[in-house]
Amino acid sequence: MTLPKEYGGHGRSALERYVVVEETLAAGAPVGYHWVADRQSGLMVARLGTEAQKKSIIPAITSGEACFAIGMSEPNSGSDLASVKSKAEKVADGWLLNGTKIWTSNAHNATHMIALFRTDFSPDAKHKGLSQFLIDMKTVRGITPRPIRDLTGRGHFNEVSFVDVLLPPDALLGREGDGWNQVTAELAYERSGPERYLSCFLLLSELIKVLDGKASPSALAKIGAELAWAATLRNMSLSVAGMLNEGKDPSLQASVVKDLGCHFEQRLPGLAQELVAMEPTLSDSGIDYQQVLGNLMLLAPSFSLRGGTLEILRGIIARGLGVR
Ligand SMILES: Cc1cc2nc3c(=O)[nH]c(=O)nc-3n(C[C@H](O)[C@H](O)[C@H](O)COP(=O)(O)OP(=O)(O)OC[C@H]3O[C@@H](n4cnc5c(N)ncnc54)[C@H](O)[C@@H]3O)c2cc1C
Repeated sequence: MTLPKEYGGHGRSALERYVVVEETLAAGAPVGYHWVADRQSGLMVARLGTEAQKKSIIPAITSGEACFAIGMSEPNSGSDLASVKSKAEKVADGWLLNGTKIWTSNAHNATHMIALFRTDFSPDAKHKGLSQFLIDMKTVRGITPRPIRDLTGRGHFNEVSFVDVLLPPDALLGREGDGWNQVTAELAYERSGPERYLSCFLLLSELIKVLDGKASPSALAKIGAELAWAATLRNMSLSVAGMLNEGKDPSLQASVVKDLGCHFEQRLPGLAQELVAMEPTLSDSGIDYQQVLGNLMLLAPSFSLRGGTLEILRGIIARGLGVR
């Protein structure tokens, strides 16, 4: 929605996009395939890409054909992202990539990946030696995604190996050596949306449906308290979208919303079990409430890891408040 009209986007504001994203998440709509491209990769290409990159990639995103993956984390570099070791070496006909990325959501379906690689190997270039690459997963050779099963038994994220992957010279996204600054800006898109408190909202509405007319006063008080949390988080999250709209950097505010939003989301499966004596399930046999609960009980533990762990977010908040 927010991508430029000249490349097929709608040129809408971050606040208009917020309204649509909020509705799709609250309804539990299947949004995974286009999620990363719409939330961050398309914006990165629009901001940093060459004219040729914009003309080839953005129309594929706006037409719904492109599916993006985020290649940041590595087996020994998660929270300490600046320590990534996967290498991109400049060679005569482009860039030669070797290394491994991990937890890469949707890499097995993705047509493209924006990935962070080390381009300067000198010991004092920890932050300055990183660059981002725009990778066409379907045309280059040597990239192998291997799905990793999560607690639900599904393989939504992957370990992705890069063995002698040759990229054309124009695969560099933005400036060589500016990858750290670029990735930090990208994380602000990743951490600021309504998905950071709405992942379990469907459970809350299913719970209210199941309790309809049968809730005790104390159950009503508990649900009321969570709805008050939801309303407060919504206002906070909306004000982050407002900051993005004004071109401000919402890293600190987005971290506060993700931290509080994550606690809210992770509380809801426990509350549902406390208030309703109905077994969770992963099969299609139960009613919607049981299926939503079954899935979220197994997915919720990962909410405090994905997009940056709570400890890392608190470090950002402490620095932003000047206490660290
Ligand atoms: C569902 C899911 C989807 C994901 N999708 C993607 C994706 O698409 N692309 C991608 O690149 N990554 C993805 N990730 C990876 C995610 O970003 C990392 O898991 C996260 O950044 C943590 O890194 P780690 O797993 O290496 O843990 P570690 O960094 O090893 O952390 C382990 C523990 O130590 C704590 N810790 C680490 N450093 C510090 C510190 N300095 N101070 C205090 N505590 C600290 C952490 O908070 C955590 O509790 C995904 C993760 C999940 C769970």
